[in-house]
Amino acid sequence: MKYTTRSGDVPHQAHVNYACPCGCIAGVIYDAAAPPEKPGACCCGRLLMVGPGARQRLESRLPGDEAFDLDAGTVKLPWGEVVETALAVPQE
Ligand SMILES: [Zn+2]
Ligand SMILES: [Zn+2]
Repeated sequence: MKYTTRSGDVPHQAHVNYACPCGCIAGVIYDAAAPPEKPGACCCGRLLMVGPGARQRLESRLPGDEAFDLDAGTVKLPWGEVVETALAVPQE
């Protein structure tokens, strides 16, 4: 998945977004001072986690009664830092 970023309202905060196939611009707000505990959810059920250990943190929060495909990657934030991304896509 390709992500876009833009600066948030405060320093070290960034909006990380992607064009979801459902038609939404989905994403999550990443704050380097307080990495998000909860993934950003899209209306279609996709969940995005950003930051160190994103994949493990996302996997530990997935509902156990649903099957997901995981798309792990990285994104470069507006201030140049590269962090992990993990996107959970519900299986059909
Ligand atoms: Zn949607
Ligand atoms: Zn979606």
